[in-house]
Amino acid sequence: MRVAVAGAGLGGLCLAQGLTRAGVDVQVFERDDALHGRRQGYRLHVDARAGLALEKCLPPRLFGLFLATTGRPGTKVTVLNKRLAVLHETPTGPARDPDDPATLSASADRGILREILAAGLEERTHYGHELAGFEQDPEGVTLGFADGSTGRADLLVGADGVGSAVRRGLLPEARQVDTGVRIIYGKTPLDDATRRLIPPALHSGFTAIVGGRVGLATGLVEFRHPPAGFAPEVRLSPVGDYLMWAVSARQDRLPLPAPADATALYAVACRAIRSWHPALRALLAAASVEETFLVRVRIARRVPAWKPSRVTLLGDAIHAMSPARGSGANTALMDAANLCEAMTGGGNPIAQIGAYEESMRGYGFAAVEASTQAEAATAHPFRQWLRDRAGRWA
Ligand SMILES: Cc1cc2nc3c(=O)[nH]c(=O)nc-3n(C[C@H](O)[C@H](O)[C@H](O)COP(=O)(O)OP(=O)(O)OC[C@H]3O[C@@H](n4cnc5c(N)ncnc54)[C@H](O)[C@@H]3O)c2cc1C
Repeated sequence: MRVAVAGAGLGGLCLAQGLTRAGVDVQVFERDDALHGRRQGYRLHVDARAGLALEKCLPPRLFGLFLATTGRPGTKVTVLNKRLAVLHETPTGPARDPDDPATLSASADRGILREILAAGLEERTHYGHELAGFEQDPEGVTLGFADGSTGRADLLVGADGVGSAVRRGLLPEARQVDTGVRIIYGKTPLDDATRRLIPPALHSGFTAIVGGRVGLATGLVEFRHPPAGFAPEVRLSPVGDYLMWAVSARQDRLPLPAPADATALYAVACRAIRSWHPALRALLAAASVEETFLVRVRIARRVPAWKPSRVTLLGDAIHAMSPARGSGANTALMDAANLCEAMTGGGNPIAQIGAYEESMRGYGFAAVEASTQAEAATAHPFRQWLRDRAGRWA
C-alpha cells in the first residue's frame, strides 16, 4: 500500500512515523521549502491525547526524546487582572509522572517536536511540494502539484492544515470561519535578568491576564533537559527556556499595522498593555522582537458525514479550532494515531477509513466547540470571570 500525506505538520509527520513503523510505503509532500520555513508558534500544551498518540507512532527512542524535551509541568492555571491581583486559581491536580504519556500535561516546543517527528523521515519527506489537487479512480489517486508535476498513491491523507487543498477537493461544502479574534504571539527568552522580571503567579504554569477587552496569556517553557545535544543522533535546535506570551482581542480592539511585520506587531502588542502592571510591560520589553507573529483565528464548521473513499483528512484540515484551549495539536496527533491504526489493522482500507472518519468527526468537532467556548472567554474575559464566579456561588 502506498500512502501519500499532504503536509509535514504535526499530524502528517506523526502519521508518517506510525506508517513507517508498520512497514507501509508513505511519502509526505510539504508546501514549505524546509521544516522551519515559516513561523508557526512556540509553546504547545500537550496532554494525554498527544502522549498516547506519539507513543503509538514514534519509534521508542524518539518517543523518549519527546518526553525528555517537554517543559516542566505547571502546578496551576491562574487568572489575574492587569494589576496582577489573582482572580482565580485552578490547581492542575496531584503531581504527575512526566514520563507517563497517559497522564501527560506539559508544554512542548513546536519546533523541537517537529524536529523529533521529522527524524528518520528525511528520504520520505518532499519539501517545496505543494499539493494543488487530486483525482480518484477505482485503482488509486493521482496527485497534482502546484509546479505541474504529478504523483500516484493508493490512499491520500490531507494533513495540510486550515487552508487544506485536499479538503477543498474532497468536501467543497466544508467551511472555515474567521472568528474576528486576533492574537499576537511573542517570546521572551529567559536568562538571569528576565527570570527576575517574572511575577510569582506566572511561575506556576499557564496564566490568563484580563484587562477590559484585551487578554494576555503567558506560558513558561522550562525544558526538563536542554534539547540541543541531548540525543546526538537527532539534530535538535539549541532552544533555551522562554516565556511565551499572547496578546489577544477582537480585531476592532487590536488595530493591525500594514505591513504586519514582526516589529510593527510587537509595537501593537506593547501598546495594547501600556497601562498594565510594570512587570508585564517589562516582560514584553525584553522579548525577541523578530519572533513576534500574528494569528487570525479560524474555526471549522461541523461537516455532516460523507462517503468514505481513498482520500481522507486529519487535524486542522478538517476540524480547525481556536488555539484558546490548547487542543488542536493534541487532536491532530490523536487523529494521526487513529488513522494509522485504521490503515494498518487489516481489512478493507476504505471501510477502515470510514470507521476512523466517523469517530474523528465526533471528538474532533467536540474539540472545536470546546475551544470556541474557551475563545469567547478570552475575548470577553471579564464577563467569563463573572460567569465563573456566579457558577461557583450558585
Ligand atoms: C500560535 C498557536 C498556538 C497553539 N497552541 C496550541 C497548544 O498549546 N496546544 C494544541 O493542542 N494546539 C495548539 N495550537 C493548534 C495547533 O498548532 C494546530 O491545531 C496543529 O498544528 C494542527 O496540526 P496539523 O498537522 O493538522 O496542521 P499543521 O501543523 O498546520 O500542518 C499543516 C502542514 O501542511 C502544510 N501545507 C499546507 N497546505 C499544503 C499543501 N497544499 N500541500 C502540501 N503541504 C501543505 C503546511 O505548510 C503545514 O506544514 C496552536 C496554534 C497556534 C497557531
